[in-house]
Amino acid sequence: MAIQPARIRVLNDVPPRDGADYVLYLMQQAMRVPFNPALEGAIEEANRLKLPLLVCFGLLDGANGFPEANARHYAFLLQGLADVAAALSRRGIAFLVQRATPAEVAIDLSERAALLVLDRGYLAIQKRWYDEIGRAAKCRIVQVEGDVVVPLETASTKHEYAARTLRPKLQKLWDGYLEPLAPRTVENPAEGLTKRLKLNVGLDVSDPDKLLAKLTLDTTVGPVKRFRGGYTEAAGHLELFLENAFAGYGAGRNKPEAGAASHMSPYLHFGHISPVEIALAIRVAKDADRDDRSAYLEELIVRRGLAMNHVFHRQGYDDYARAVPEWARKTLAEHADDPRPNLYSEEELAEGETHDHYWNVAMREMRETGYMHNQLRMYWGKKILEWSPSPEEAFARTLRLNNRYFLDGRDANSFTNVAWIFGLHDRPWQTRPIFGSVRYQSENSLRKFDAKGYERAVTRLCEAEKG
Ligand SMILES: Cc1cc2nc3c(=O)[nH]c(=O)nc-3n(C[C@H](O)[C@H](O)[C@H](O)COP(=O)(O)OP(=O)(O)OC[C@H]3O[C@@H](n4cnc5c(N)ncnc54)[C@H](O)[C@@H]3O)c2cc1C
Repeated sequence: MAIQPARIRVLNDVPPRDGADYVLYLMQQAMRVPFNPALEGAIEEANRLKLPLLVCFGLLDGANGFPEANARHYAFLLQGLADVAAALSRRGIAFLVQRATPAEVAIDLSERAALLVLDRGYLAIQKRWYDEIGRAAKCRIVQVEGDVVVPLETASTKHEYAARTLRPKLQKLWDGYLEPLAPRTVENPAEGLTKRLKLNVGLDVSDPDKLLAKLTLDTTVGPVKRFRGGYTEAAGHLELFLENAFAGYGAGRNKPEAGAASHMSPYLHFGHISPVEIALAIRVAKDADRDDRSAYLEELIVRRGLAMNHVFHRQGYDDYARAVPEWARKTLAEHADDPRPNLYSEEELAEGETHDHYWNVAMREMRETGYMHNQLRMYWGKKILEWSPSPEEAFARTLRLNNRYFLDGRDANSFTNVAWIFGLHDRPWQTRPIFGSVRYQSENSLRKFDAKGYERAVTRLCEAEKG
């Protein structure tokens, strides 16, 4: 299967450089070997030019400027890189991880490259790297989209109002993008390449724990045992989900205690698995019915696509004044002086020291294991709005807590869903204190699921983290 042309953008349209030493791929978003169109495209180019392929990765930490870098996220990231290193070596592809920004690494190594291949993410920091590379790298630059099902600009060229406006556009297109991607044969193995060219070999990622200890990171949020990073782990979780929990996803996905969630979000965030691979597996899964499949594809393609669309088109997606729609800011401002009987500091929230027992349980799951079910994330965020001194402060706190503790934090989904709490992609509802006409969620919503069963599961998971 060829790589779909809509996934490919040429950022510097010059011919491949003559006399080059390799084709270069900056792996930055799609941190995986299987089902990676940028990697397969780079192999095709290397074969055509009769060159070996060099893959590079720029590792930032708290010391060289990655925002909110903590040990939880980095342990997962490094586990994924160890998986990538082993898989690339099996395929005869060289891999360098250097401690610098992705743009610096790519610009430096591009001087000896015939062409540079990039993959694609949509956050502001990633766009800045691509712009920097586009300005400085003198060789041909090709970018290949591999982390959404339908390429973003193919689905829509504007900021979408809500899921209902994006859904029909995606539904018309997605069959054309749900295609398998065969691994290409590497015709010119890169054995001995880095030594022969005397390249800076950078960091050894084969022992993630050892490397983690050398990085400058916030260690107050530590690694979790519940999820290990990397494609191999992602594929294992997906298989277990499809075998044991997917049948019934349609009816059970709103019940956190039912376990009917795939836990794919950390892996999707770090690019450890392709959303196309997941969608293809969902389509052929045994025992599930049509409702299960369409409910899952709605989340994976429509909701996730809407989040990407928002961060792509809304500069300032992390800023209350720009991320939250005007009608919602207006109604929240009109209720800014309403009495707030339950006010908590950010520390009290983080420690789960509120009057609301089940909110505290959910916060414990997030703090100690890095994950929370979507149904509880909605309740969790709505309560932070209710219990904070102002909507602006509530927005900033929700984002900080989200990005600090969730393994899937700092994702397009993080920024978009936090803004949803404050009215993004939603409509006005019945007016209430504090919320105005922004959607409210009451404690009664917890009656719809087995809260005690959920608490027992969280206790078990947190005990396992300590063991
Ligand atoms: C306040 C709040 C904060 C959130 N923060 C994050 C975050 O930091 N990172 C993150 O990835 N998701 C976030 N979400 C969205 C959603 O809760 C998670 O993606 C989902 O719970 C991940 O679990 P899962 O993979 O087991 O989901 P599943 O139910 O198995 O869904 C499969 C996939 O569909 C996508 N998906 C599911 N629900 C949503 C949704 N509401 N919006 C967009 N995509 C969705 C995800 O990619 C998910 O991995 C947040 C939601 C809310 C309400």
